[in-house]
Amino acid sequence: MNIGFIGLGNMGGPMAANLAKAGHVVTGFDTAEVAVEGVQAVGSAAEAATDQDIVITMLPNGAILRAVTAEIIPAMRPGAVFLDCSTVDVDSARSVAEEADKADILPLDAPVSGGVGGAQGGTLTFMVGGNEAAFMKAQPLFEIMGQKAVHCGPSGNGQAAKICNNMILGVTMIATCEAFALADKLGLDRQAMFDVVSTSSGYSWSMNAYCPAPGVGPKSPADNGYQPGFAADLMLKDLRLSQQAAEGADADTPMGRAAADLYARFVEEEDGAGRDFSAMLPRFEKRGRG
Ligand code: NAD
Repeated sequence: MNIGFIGLGNMGGPMAANLAKAGHVVTGFDTAEVAVEGVQAVGSAAEAATDQDIVITMLPNGAILRAVTAEIIPAMRPGAVFLDCSTVDVDSARSVAEEADKADILPLDAPVSGGVGGAQGGTLTFMVGGNEAAFMKAQPLFEIMGQKAVHCGPSGNGQAAKICNNMILGVTMIATCEAFALADKLGLDRQAMFDVVSTSSGYSWSMNAYCPAPGVGPKSPADNGYQPGFAADLMLKDLRLSQQAAEGADADTPMGRAAADLYARFVEEEDGAGRDFSAMLPRFEKRGRG
């Protein structure tokens, strides 16, 4: 396929490289003028989008996605697929999909989980909103860039799935970290705590697969000085998107709101910026109730 790829950062760069390595013709654009192996760089988003079978975007936020969309839709040919893999607010996803529909372009919102390692290894999970025909056209590319793609329904539903998943993740990570810190203060050994919880009803991905306590459970960022992994800053972004969506939909999300507030404090007022999101554990360790 002829593919345009816009946004060649930490995630987009390796995703575009994997598509090129698999034999697709990839033309790329990034405002930072980065070079990606196998990808032909051009000077504008519109140029990257012209006459492609599919145009992929991997951008920082909804405002940038909306601006790039306005630039590329007039350049894209009718029938082409517009695949946005960024994590953005549901409203932006639905609004750019509407613009694409009006121009007979097939929109898909397909945010990912799996992080930079998943982008490099081609093992991302895609959560996809949009129509079935567009999903089928993009399927071969999902198979190159990822290991799983779930069709979640119409436009915006991919973003909805992503922020609901990450709201659960943020809440369970905080719960796991505060429970470890309480266990410490009660004199419970961390290994014993892990052995019990990971096989009892308190288990979760945060405990079992990404244990925030160093030296306990499988290898995780805790064993690497809390280098991300999944940065607390990105967790904060996703929690804020969940709260923005909850406001718009009039959904009561008290735990999601508490998690967003706590990660905001951690990242913006304390030492959480640039650390893995599981560094909530050393944060709780240092604190008392007051
Ligand atoms: P990044 O900042 O490394 O990459 C974004 C790229 O977009 C940058 O290279 C930037 O120069 C480029 N860009 C900005 N404005 C542009 C424009 N107008 N035109 C063209 N290029 C432009 O970020 P990232 O980590 O690659 O994340 C990209 C998206 O993926 C975000 O929405 C993020 O939330 C999501 N995401 C990231 C991770 C992760 O672990 N990094 C995991 C899942 C999802």
